[in-house]
Amino acid sequence: MQETVPPGPAGSVSSTQRQRHGPASPPIAAAAFSGASVDGGVGGRVLVLNATYEPINVCSIRRAVVLLLKDKAEMIERGARQLHAESFTLARPLVIRLVTYVRVPRQAHRRKITRRAVFARDGWACQYCGSRSNLTVDHVVPRSKGGTSSWDNIVASCGPCNRRKGDQLLAHLDMELRRAPKTPRAEIFIHVSAPTIPSAWQPYLAQAA
Ligand SMILES: [Zn+2]
Repeated sequence: MQETVPPGPAGSVSSTQRQRHGPASPPIAAAAFSGASVDGGVGGRVLVLNATYEPINVCSIRRAVVLLLKDKAEMIERGARQLHAESFTLARPLVIRLVTYVRVPRQAHRRKITRRAVFARDGWACQYCGSRSNLTVDHVVPRSKGGTSSWDNIVASCGPCNRRKGDQLLAHLDMELRRAPKTPRAEIFIHVSAPTIPSAWQPYLAQAA
């Protein structure tokens, strides 16, 4: 496999370049980034890891730079490009890690029940028969029987299974769930929020199915 290395720009700068002009600490003016020199190759998004390296979020480059400059996060993976602001130059962050552990409230995930998130959690497969086509969202305990719209009562279901199940309880049918539905891990929301997962993120998301 041949790896092509693009030629550096004329008078290319060393990778250690990190300029700060003046004694004052750099202004953390988010507006300093016009975006003009921002590498848009991965959609301008940065993967945020908790202090434990668990992926918890996706944020903008701007937000990541603020966290880095405030020493609230450290750079884990950087891009080839440099970000230039008035008072400093910084490699474009791809993955950052929070210095302090942040408790991710389960409640925060509970709010974000969407079809895409349910399908992603369930591996894009019907939880009754395993089919991958015609996916719909099914309330395990039907709403008409008091079922709630919560993570533990909503599953991906193919159209035929959903119709067959209708308004009945599983106990009354010859159907069963392949696994009990529950609130997914944060990775699911990262997969849902980023249409394509940049390769630099892959090692940190490997545990997500
Ligand atoms: Zn099915």
